[in-house]
Formats: sequence, C-alpha cells, structure tokens
Amino acid sequence: MKRTEIKTLLESTDYGKTVNVKGWVRTKRESKNVAFIALNDGSTIKSVQIVVDKNPEIEKILDNIHTGAALSVNGTIIESPGKGQKVEIQAKEIEVLGPADPEEYPLQPKKHTLEFLREIAHLRFRTNTFGAITRVRHAMIFAIHKYFTENGFYNIHTPIITASDAEGAGEMFQVTTLDLNNIPKTDDGEVDFRKDFFGKPANLTVSGQLEAELAALALSKVYTFGPTFRAENSNTSRHLAEFWMIEPEVAFYDINDDMDLAEDMVKYLIRYALENCMDDLGFLSKRQQDEEKSKKADERSMELIEKLRFVIDQEFERITYTEAIDILRNSKPNKKKKFQYLIEGWGADLQSEHERYLVEKHFKKPVIITDYPKDIKAFYMKQNDDGRTVRAMDVLFPQIGEIIGGSQREDDYDKLYNRIKEMGIPEESMWWYLETRKFGSVIHSGFGLGFERMMLFVTGMGNIRDVIPFPRTPLNCEF
Ligand code: ATP
Ligand code: MN
Repeated sequence: MKRTEIKTLLESTDYGKTVNVKGWVRTKRESKNVAFIALNDGSTIKSVQIVVDKNPEIEKILDNIHTGAALSVNGTIIESPGKGQKVEIQAKEIEVLGPADPEEYPLQPKKHTLEFLREIAHLRFRTNTFGAITRVRHAMIFAIHKYFTENGFYNIHTPIITASDAEGAGEMFQVTTLDLNNIPKTDDGEVDFRKDFFGKPANLTVSGQLEAELAALALSKVYTFGPTFRAENSNTSRHLAEFWMIEPEVAFYDINDDMDLAEDMVKYLIRYALENCMDDLGFLSKRQQDEEKSKKADERSMELIEKLRFVIDQEFERITYTEAIDILRNSKPNKKKKFQYLIEGWGADLQSEHERYLVEKHFKKPVIITDYPKDIKAFYMKQNDDGRTVRAMDVLFPQIGEIIGGSQREDDYDKLYNRIKEMGIPEESMWWYLETRKFGSVIHSGFGLGFERMMLFVTGMGNIRDVIPFPRTPLNCEF
C-alpha cells in the first residue's frame, strides 16, 4: 500500500478507509487491552495517534516498540474522540522497520535542553522543536526565491572560493592544497603560493556581493543566496563560522530604494511565515513562553506571533548614524555606565547592546541607520559629500541587533580607486571590480541579509546554533 503522509492524513476525514503510515515513535502508552502510539513522520509537527487493540500476537510486536523506533502501520482511519485532531488510526498490522533500544536512545520523551540537543545534532531533527525549525527554514528559503522571482530578480551563483577579500572586515578561512607539513618557501622565506592550487592565496568567501555587482551592472536586478564563511573567533549567540546570506544587488537603486527593498522583503518573509507555517509557529511560540516562565514580566519577549504581526504593521524608523549617536550618548544606560562599551562620541562603532537599545527601548520598532562614518565601513560604500560618512544602511531588529547590512555602492572610479589605495587593499586583486566603474558605471545598491539571523527572528529562538541544521562555530565541526 502506498504511504500516506501524516500531514495529509490529519487533514482528511475518510473514516473507514484503509491506509498505510510510516514514521518514528514519539511515545507509547499501554493499558490492559489497548496501546496508543504517537507516530510522527516530520511532514507536520503533529503526530498521529495509532490505536492498537491488544492480542497475544500483537503484544509481541508491541514489546519491541519504543520511542525512536521506525514503524509501518496499516490501519483504518477512525474519528478521534480527543480534541485537537479529527482522526486516529485503528491499527491492523504493525511492522517495526527499525527498532530503537530504549536503554540507548538518547531522545527520551521528556524535555531536553537545547545545549544537549546540539550534542546529538544527528538526532535532534526528531524533536518537535527542530522539526518545526526545519520546516520554517524551508518555507523561508522558498519565500526568498519567490519574492525575488515575483519582483524581477535573477538568482546568480557567486563563487565560494575567492582570491579577493571582499569586505576586508571578516577573518577568512584559507583554502589550500599545500602540504602543511612541508610548505614551499620563496627565497625570502615566505610561503610560495605560486605552488598552491590557484597559484595565489585563496579563501572561502565572506560575501558574494562584489560578483553580484558585476551581474547587476548587466541584468539590473540580481540576488545571491549562498553560504558565507567568517573565521572570526566570536563565540556569540548571533555568529556562525558558516552561515547563509541573501544578497540582492540592484542597478539604478540609490540608498533609499535599497532601504525600501530591505523593508519590503523582510515584511514579505514574515507575512509568508504567518500565512504558511502557523502550526510550527504556534508550537515555537508556546515553547518560547515556557522557556521564559522563570523570567520577570518585563524581561519576557513579546509573544512570537504578536511580535511578527507587530513588525509587519510598523514602518521601520530611519535615522542617521549621527542621530543614533546623539540618542545613545544621552541615554540612561550610557549615563549610568550600564553599557559595556560606553558611547563617548561620534565615530564609535555600534555594538549590539546599542543597536538593541535603539530598537527595543527607544523606538520600540525596527530601525534603519544610515550614513555611518566611512572609517568603520567597507571600501566600496558610496562616499557622501561631507567627506566623512558613507551611504551605508543597517537594519536593526529586536533581540537580534543587525539583521541586514547594506549600502549604495561607490560608482565613481576615482573615488573608489583612491579608497582602495587608502585602505591598503591590493589593487591587482580588484582590477575587474574597478573596471565596472570605467564602463557604463551607474548608481547601484544592495545589502546582505543573514539568513540565520532572520530565522532567529521568525522562530523566536535565542541561539543561532539552533536555527541551522549543522552549526559551525569555533572548535565545533562535528556532524
Ligand atoms: P555583525 O556586526 O553583527 O558581526 P557584520 O557587520 O560583520 O555583522 P555584514 O558583513 O554586514 O555583517 O554581513 C551582512 C549580514 O550577515 C549581517 O547583517 C548579519 O545578518 C549576517 N552576519 C554577519 N556575520 C554573521 C555571522 N558570523 N553569523 C551569522 N550571520 C552573520
Ligand atoms: Mn554589517
């Protein structure tokens, strides 16, 4: 018999129909004459209840059924007497496809901490929490491609291995085939990269932006959505060494168009989640509230679905860096020296504590900050006439801080060239990028949205390690 997915089954009311379901046992409860098995196949957060009337033959099978075992069940759809779902399955035949030893199976039907689940990432997909996150993650990936497709963008694959340091910001992972125990040296005693695979040093990319710009200056509207790598040794709940980034790049867009695009896109994604992932979001909302029970009322986060609706309904606040510094300098936590990094004056880089203050305490909604000092931003950002700021824009979200970093790009050849020189970026690795400013250069803009930061926001999870299947962080590369 063809397998019916549990999601489809739970939506049907074909009482009396015989079906086959397959999945993994979440729980088994037994009384004298009957057993109940909750079976989940990951197609939905909901498990189907399998009702088993006991007889000597089936009891032998039941003895082998424990949490974690894989089953195939043939049975009839019956009306469920319980609330919550309409149907159950009255089992006729049960086959244990793969047993799970209850003494050894680490995922017992009780609450496990997220930290423990990270240690068993090979099994954590089988929890309600990670099932929900994985399905929402898929929905968001789909919605991203849908959004761009509907808006006339073309997806391009930018390289993962690169010989240019795009941002000059993030530490990069080096890619080499040199024998590390026997490194070829030049006469000066330096590593002889001419002997390496590409004949020069190469790294894993920190961003697909520079290449996306090349495409935008021909196809007008493009985006990349790929893995990016940062070797920064920052063990925070918002940083991964390997994460996914969405980077649209658009010709003829200035910074204001760029901000409109960013705001419209994240709102679209949130709306898509609300329209398509309610079962999972409902579960994640409850999970978050349970988790925060022990917190004081004013430290608890807004209920997840309410928070998502709230963000869609708000117009994001748009302020300049200079205005942000004024607000922060005069803020209570700055005056009372509560910030870890005190804001002394103009020029300071904003830390996540400052970003969160602006969003959560001051404006109480997402904030877009523009026109940052050029010295704390990348070389490719459009220089303002004041000589000290660039047309950058960062989108800041509650609980997360920076979720998007973007800018209008410098389209003037001389200004870009001088900035590259000033910042000591090797010109010979940038010739192709510079050439686009020689031939048909136009205003253009783009941004990078960290996909896992977006996932943190949509799922209400607190640690970025829990919204990607296999997190890569310092000293952690298992699975
Ligand atoms: P932050 O200051 O938060 O470390 P950044 O300014 O270094 O971020 P950008 O280079 O502007 O980040 O990258 C664009 C986006 O990519 C960020 O807005 C963020 O959403 C995401 N991002 C950056 N670094 C990481 C990381 N290590 N792990 C996960 N997401 C990241
Ligand atoms: Mn940034």
